[in-house]
Order: sequence, then structure tokens, then C-alpha cells
Amino acid sequence: MHYPEPISKLIDSFMKLPGIGPKTAGRLAFFVLSMKEDTVLDFAKALVDAKRNLRFCSVCGHITDIDPCQICQDQSRDRSMICVVQDPKDVIAMEKMRDYNGLYHVLHGAISPMDGVGPEDINVPSLLTRLQDEEVKELILATNPTIEGEATAMYISRLVKPSGITTTRIAHGLPVGGDLEYADEVTLSKALEGRREL
Ligand SMILES: [Zn+2]
Repeated sequence: MHYPEPISKLIDSFMKLPGIGPKTAGRLAFFVLSMKEDTVLDFAKALVDAKRNLRFCSVCGHITDIDPCQICQDQSRDRSMICVVQDPKDVIAMEKMRDYNGLYHVLHGAISPMDGVGPEDINVPSLLTRLQDEEVKELILATNPTIEGEATAMYISRLVKPSGITTTRIAHGLPVGGDLEYADEVTLSKALEGRREL
């Protein structure tokens, strides 16, 4: 089908989003045409603002509009614990659970020799620097229960062990091969409670 150029452009833009195929993109594009101009402008502004004002926390790597992020700045949190996760979405999942009051470190990936991703390619060096400066007693390794996630947890555990910091791995209950962000709050809470020392 031949669309006027602005519509094809809009459809192409929607198709850049994950899980949106040409059919859905077409439906969304035509829906936008039916929206009030103000609403469309607000929507466009929200997209641009999110992109411009959000960055990664220079301490923990979580997504934030202030640096350091709110969690890193919160003095009421337990600074003796750092929970290491792969993705900012995992921090949001953990925070929803409300059982954890420590700090975080977001790796932005996992070690994967097959894909050529080494420790230096993810936020491991910044974690090691942090461990030297901060009063951390326990590192909770909450990387995903995938081969890469397990390998990353083992790698960090071995690296950190000589420093005397306890490293723990979150427990079973998380589906193998699953992502932390998709675990429900009860499962996640149990996984955290049942963590064991590595
Ligand atoms: Zn932070």
C-alpha cells in the first residue's frame, strides 16, 4: 500500500520499537492521526525529554535524571550491601519488591566470551573501584539465571573473594534462563531471602 510520506515515516518510526511489526505500526500511526494535536505534542515532548534528561548514574550505573541517582544519595539505605544486576530494569523489579534496602550496581550486560563481551566491556571495573572506596560487606550477585549471568556471578565472586567481602548468589525459584525483570515480587523476594554464599 502506498501512504503519503509523513505516514510512512511515522510507521517506520514505530517499527523501530521492539515487538512492533508493520501491522501494529500502521495501526498506531493512524491512531496518532486521530489524536488531539496537544496530546501528540506532549507525547513527542515526553520522548525527547526522557532521552535528553536521563543518563546513567556515575556511581551505580542505574538510569537517572540526577547524578548520583536517588538510591545512591539516599542516606537511609544500607550501604554495607550492593546488589549486582545486569540491567536498570532489574533495579526497578527489586525496588518494587520493597524487601531490599541496600545499594545497587548495574553491569549493563553479562560476560559472554562467545559474543566477545569481557569484564571490561560491562560495568565491572567501576564495581571494583567502588568496593575499594565504600564500606561494603556483602555483594549480592543477582545476575540472570542464564549461562552468561552465572558465569558473570562466578567471575565477580572470584575477583572479590580475596578482599574479604562476602559474595552471595540469589537462590533458586527464579526460572532458569529467565530474566530477573520478569520474576514476580514473591519469587524475587524468596530468591533474595534464600541467597547463599559463593
Ligand atoms: Zn546510583
